[in-house]
Amino acid sequence: MSSDKIIIAIDGYSSSGKSTMARRLAKTIGYRYIDSGAMYRAVTLYAMRHALINPDGTVDAPRLETALPEISIDFKVDGDGQQTLLNGEIVENEIRTLEVSNHVSPVAAIPAVRHALVKMQRAMGETKGIVMDGRDIGTVVFPHAEMKVFCNATPERRAERRFKELTEKGATVTYEEVLANVMQRDHIDMTREESPLRCADDAVMLDNSAMTIDEQNDWLLNLYRSITGKKD
Ligand code: C5P
Repeated sequence: MSSDKIIIAIDGYSSSGKSTMARRLAKTIGYRYIDSGAMYRAVTLYAMRHALINPDGTVDAPRLETALPEISIDFKVDGDGQQTLLNGEIVENEIRTLEVSNHVSPVAAIPAVRHALVKMQRAMGETKGIVMDGRDIGTVVFPHAEMKVFCNATPERRAERRFKELTEKGATVTYEEVLANVMQRDHIDMTREESPLRCADDAVMLDNSAMTIDEQNDWLLNLYRSITGKKD
């Protein structure tokens, strides 16, 4: 049933260009693409809307844990893109704001949140033919993935890309705010106890600081071809 399809895990630092190239590869080879970061962002939006983030920025973990069974997350394919749904509502724009970015890493550090989302992510990969990006896909979610990539770029380069993305959408943010957020998320993601961000031993590393999007797409497609022996 799952034929010769594989699982492709793409991990890396915040705004390292993972999603763009993961999405493109999935489209080219006819695989399903899952942005696992969108799932953590959706839970964060839920927590913000239900006053589960304390005024000092810490998360009310026990209450969020109790609320987890009430949170459903889905994806709807929409043309070239994908829309994230939180309890049936499209929240794609809401989850991309700097406010959500500022709260997501503490939410993602809560073990119960991770367990719930990892379970959903594994179910999505059951029939293979999936490209998933995130922080722990090659280490925890799919440790046996046939293809693993770990992306990085300098914090300044990543913040520049994110700043451009946000301002193009009309957000009023400064480059300094975005850089601070990128660096803070890296720090929390790398130092949390539960499945911290790290490169899997068998992942191929990519520093894309000086690469264009087309160069990254070609690099990834070539890696897929060399691993699978396919020409598609
Ligand atoms: O990928 P993105 O930057 O949208 O992810 C948002 C946040 O979600 C990350 O900074 C990280 O805290 C968390 N995350 C995670 N594990 C994943 C994907 C994202 O902890 N697999």
